[in-house]
Amino acid sequence: MTDQKSVRVRFAPSPTGPLHIGGVRTALYNYLFAKRNNGTFILRIEDTDQLRYVPGAEEYIIESLKWCGIRYDEGPGIGGDYGPYRQSERQNLYRDFANQLINNGYAYYAFDTPQELEEMRERLKAEKSDSQQYDVKTRGGMTNSLTLSQDETQRRISSGEPYVIRIKIPENEIIVVNDLIRGKVEVRSELLDDKVLFKSDGMPTYHLANIVDDHLMDISHVIRGEEWLPSAPLHVFLYRCFKWEAPQFAHLPLLLKPDGNGKLSKRDGDRLGFPVFPLKWEDPISRDVSSGYRESGYFPEAFINMLALLGWNPGTEQEIFSLEELTKEFSLERVGKSGSKFDPDKAKWFNHKYLVEISNTKLAEQFAPYIAERGITVDLGFVEKVVEIIKERANFVSDFWEQSSFFFTAPQDYDEQVVKKRWKTDSALLMIDLKKQFLLIDDFSAENIKDRIHFFAQERNVGLGAIMNALRLLLVGGSFGPDLAVIAEMIGKDEVLKRIDTGILKLG
Ligand code: GLU
Repeated sequence: MTDQKSVRVRFAPSPTGPLHIGGVRTALYNYLFAKRNNGTFILRIEDTDQLRYVPGAEEYIIESLKWCGIRYDEGPGIGGDYGPYRQSERQNLYRDFANQLINNGYAYYAFDTPQELEEMRERLKAEKSDSQQYDVKTRGGMTNSLTLSQDETQRRISSGEPYVIRIKIPENEIIVVNDLIRGKVEVRSELLDDKVLFKSDGMPTYHLANIVDDHLMDISHVIRGEEWLPSAPLHVFLYRCFKWEAPQFAHLPLLLKPDGNGKLSKRDGDRLGFPVFPLKWEDPISRDVSSGYRESGYFPEAFINMLALLGWNPGTEQEIFSLEELTKEFSLERVGKSGSKFDPDKAKWFNHKYLVEISNTKLAEQFAPYIAERGITVDLGFVEKVVEIIKERANFVSDFWEQSSFFFTAPQDYDEQVVKKRWKTDSALLMIDLKKQFLLIDDFSAENIKDRIHFFAQERNVGLGAIMNALRLLLVGGSFGPDLAVIAEMIGKDEVLKRIDTGILKLG
């Protein structure tokens, strides 16, 4: 396992919109890793990019984690010894670190205007250069403290000219990232660009703030999405410049679209027919609404279980894990390198597995509002019995009504296809006679009903199927539903007789 240093990991989202399920998985893996190693899980909000800040996004992130049961030990709202946990509240401390890099020759001031930067790119493009980066090859031709005299640099700064601070990437070095999932990743330094660390608006960029905070917060492992792997060499280099011990890195494989073609992105929204966000999200500007797993009827336990297995495998056939079990089993060694295809049907399957394990009493309580909203009052005990019978066929509580409406109300109409196929010329007569048989039953139990139907079939010398199909049509309105005798017992003799009468009248 890990070295002596105590495990401290962080989930560091930027509040630029709702959290995508890939982000939830990153948070989950961080949480599981922390719990598995008696460590600390931290939430840090990376909100230095004012332009991309979206109101409500931070609250959304926090609420999502709460719904999932992913509790953080330190973070906004609950504090901790390493706070504040919002980068905007730490704003004043980054400047000194940027200055430190300048003073030690690892960074420099750059005064290039957006127009000059554009010209540089155009020129390089025209020269057919393979890259148009601001880097070791191009910085010598730009307006920065490496090309200007010290006096001129000072003059520009004192006169308030806007500038940024850039990292000075060295030439001819190999930068090595040791990734716990991907292994050793080596990059030649001159392929990296001189990223901006500090912006003209007085705010640090992600790169500077991220590594300064990881250092100050004593982060032992950086576990994050693979999209950050290209930034890792720069981060490793920055740790070196500061002479800080770098954390260990683990870049998680991507979550892919169901067909495996590309990354599952926020923009996929409901386009693919399933939510990509944990909770419903309404965009504060466009007012567009995207659906969420919570509102779609998923149990948080099922959602988490499904996400845990998208990238990590337990090494056994077991698929159902509680959060508690996951915290015992999880390890980064069992996180794969390749992307995991998101499977919406499997997501439903997980929900089903959790649904059937929930007590009938609880399910009945959750189902009750759906019944009440149709103006029907029933005894909760009856709802419990219904739930027991139908839950095997449902993935969500919201499926219950469709599976069971006939327990609560007589069919309003009859499925035309079924009528065509199963309501024969002699069906009405058959049902009239069956009704007479039913009248003879005192104890209207499923067992007695079944016996009576069998007896009737024999006596009349008709197939059981013909009777059952016609009766089912009258009782439920179609050809679906659980055991017919059980349905009949549950709705009761009077109601069965009534539905036979109504059905015969309507179908003739
Ligand atoms: N703020 C970055 C994000 O939005 C954090 C990346 C990291 O974990 O270093 O994903």
